[in-house]
This record gives sequence, C-alpha cells and structure tokens, in this order.
Amino acid sequence: MAVDETTAPARGPKISFVSLGCPKALVDSERIITRLRAEGYELARQHDGADLVIVNTCGFLDSAKQESLGAIGDALAENGKVIVTGCMGAEPEAITERFPQVLAVTGPQQYESVVAAVHQAAPPAHDPFLDLLPPEGIKLTPRHYAYLKISEGCNNRCTFCIIPKLRGDLVSRPAADVLREAERLVAAGVKELLVISQDTSAYGVDVKYAPSSWRGREVPAKFIDLARALGELGVWVRLHYVYPYPHVDDVIPLMAEGQILPYLDIPFQHASPDVLKRMRRPAAQEKTLDRIRRWREICPVLTIRSTFIVGFPGETEEDFGFLLDWLEEAQLDRVGCFRYEPVAGAVSNDLAAAVPAEVMEDRWHRFMQRQRAISQRRLKRKVGTRQQVIFDQVEGTNAKGRTKGDAPEIDGTVQVTSHRPLRIGEIATVKIDRADAYDLHGTVVGF
Ligand code: SF4
Repeated sequence: MAVDETTAPARGPKISFVSLGCPKALVDSERIITRLRAEGYELARQHDGADLVIVNTCGFLDSAKQESLGAIGDALAENGKVIVTGCMGAEPEAITERFPQVLAVTGPQQYESVVAAVHQAAPPAHDPFLDLLPPEGIKLTPRHYAYLKISEGCNNRCTFCIIPKLRGDLVSRPAADVLREAERLVAAGVKELLVISQDTSAYGVDVKYAPSSWRGREVPAKFIDLARALGELGVWVRLHYVYPYPHVDDVIPLMAEGQILPYLDIPFQHASPDVLKRMRRPAAQEKTLDRIRRWREICPVLTIRSTFIVGFPGETEEDFGFLLDWLEEAQLDRVGCFRYEPVAGAVSNDLAAAVPAEVMEDRWHRFMQRQRAISQRRLKRKVGTRQQVIFDQVEGTNAKGRTKGDAPEIDGTVQVTSHRPLRIGEIATVKIDRADAYDLHGTVVGF
C-alpha cells in the first residue's frame, strides 16, 4: 500500500535532554521523556540541530548547582532554546538572573508544567503511530535494571539538607501503583528493581499505610508489605535509602529467605551522638551497632552500604575518633565519604564553627584509609565462594557484572570470563577467583 503524505507519520520535534543529579532525578527525567515520546517527540543525541533542550538540574550541593548552571550555559550556546526543570527550578531566580533567555523554569516533579512549556516552544506533530510506545515507558537505565520510585519528598529535617524545602513533605505512592509499575518493568525484561525514595523506611507514613488492591488482595502502603510483594515478582529487589528504625528488622528474614536481595543502603552520615544530634538524623538514637549485629546473625550474607560526611560544623577530633572506632565495629561492606559542603540555605552552616579545610581533608584521608582496609577484608572473604552475578557489560565471553551485594554505578564489579558467549542482563553462577581493592574476578561455573 502506498503511503501518502496525509497518512505518513510526521516526524516529531527533536528534544535534547540533559539529566543531572541523583537516581530520583533520573526517574523524573524518565517520566518526562516517556510523556514526550508518547506525544511523538524524538530524542536528539546532541543539542546542535535539536528543536529544544531540556535540562533537569540538581541543586543538592553547591558543586551540583554549578554543574547545572554550566549545563544550562552550554545548552544555550549550542542550541539557544532551553527549558530548565528539577531541583534548581525550586528557586527560579538563581537561573533567570544569570540566563534571562531561558524559555521556562519549572520545579521538581512538575511534569505537567515541563510538558506544557515544551508544547509552547516546539508544538508536537500529529503521528498516527503514537501507540507504539512500549507500555513500560522509556527508560534511561539499561534494559535489565530499573529504578522504582516509591515516594516523593521527605518528613525528616536533617540540618545539612534542603531537599524537604525543594521537594516538600513525604508523599507516598499507593502500593498497587508501585507494584503495577514493577510488573510492567519485569514484563519488559527488567531483572533488577532498585527501590528508591528519600527515606524508604518511612514509606506510607503519610497515608497511614492505606491499602490498595493488587492481584486480588489488599496491600498496605508499608515498607515490609511492599518489600514482600515485590519479592513475589521473581527478580532482584534492592532497597536504597533505608534508615535503621526498629521496623527495618522485619525485612531481614525476607533477605535471608532470598525473597529480596540481602543488601541495605543506609546513609548513616556519622556515628558520634553529638554530631548526629546536630545533623538531626532520623533513627540516630537507635542502637545501631546492636541492630547491625542482629541483622547479620539472621542474614550472614547481608551487604551494608553507607555514606558519611566528615568535617560537619563543630566536629571535634573526639567525634571523628568515635566515628573511626564505630567503623571498625560496624564492618560495613561499601562506604562513600563526603567532605562537608555548606549548601546555601542549610541550617547546619550556622550550627557551630566550620572545620578548617586542611583538618577536613586530613580526616577524609584517614577515614578512607580505615574503611578501605575494612572493605578489602570483607571483599576477600568472597574469594572461593560461588556468587550469582548479573552482567552489565559484555564482550563475547568476558563480562563486567555485579553480585547481589553490588548496586549499579555505586558499588564494585565482578570481571567474569566464561566458556560460552554471555548476554547483557543474564544472571550466572560465578566462582570468585580473586579480589583486588574494590572489585572481584571470577569464572562462570553455571547458568
Ligand atoms: S532524610 Fe534527611 S538528608 Fe535525606 S532527604 Fe530527608 S532531610 Fe534530606
């Protein structure tokens, strides 16, 4: 059949998209792109030649803000038609003062406003084949893993953080909504779901754990119930941004039984009671070391990853020494450490005297040295064991993958060799032959 010009699908305007910031911002980007693709817009590989550029900004740290401003400047220079969204959009003056030519500035999660601004700047083309959009939406992560955002905002008020100011209080999605999205992702080939939010352990508090209907039963919007239901989907389920509240104990048996991954990402940030108090961290008063010990008794293969801040205002040498001792006791598997950065508008900046830059630097190095030794010891214990490994990158019979104890992008990897060609997203049993500072090396022994 000849296709005449009136029935042929028109090419939609081309959008160049820059996504900066954390996984939560990445999920926002995916939602915006999904919506635009559904309307027939196309994605451009570069700013030059695109009809429009969207920059999803991050405003968490001053260095992130600078990166965002740089990205906006580049987009204006290379294209000229720019819409800005994301965390920095919560304070639009910071952007419009510097770049008055920006077409529109919208805040985080304001999908409708972004799309409306795009419609105005580059109206969508009519396309009779729009329904070809895959039902799982458009993902920016590889096909085999996906972030699953269960809530927006945060009820905590950590003094170094301006996220609640930018994103508001906790708003949890109904459990059935989250589970249906997870099902769609799994049906599309996703093998690993990464559960994210600002405070995953607080899920559902705002809606009083209201149940919703999924697979013919009522599922409460509650941390444990959601974890259990996700565990039924038969894929890897990894929990990020969890705080050590007593109710978190309930998911450890699910990990021990293999229903969800034996992995917890807990941003402890510090250990000294004084510093934690000044940080106003959630669950800081819980007996964390006892809790970790008990978790490991129930689930010995549990991997705990965390992040810390050194040089928080008023941190004394004694506080820091307490943190180093705590690290030795806690024996965490994977740890990131940041030097304190005074984010504009954060309460913490004026709580106590700033730690001098050279002291902060020295503490950072001492922290990293101590933790590196701990992480290496823990990694070495895996040599000789058999681990399930998921492959992220493949070149013939060689692959780079991750064990159940490694999240994508932030943790270590396993370099794998095999007798037969491997596929991205495939999971195999790998015998671990050796460990170096951060990564493992092994051989496939079964599929
Ligand atoms: S838990 Fe604290 S650091 Fe995390 S988003 Fe909420 S206020 Fe910010």
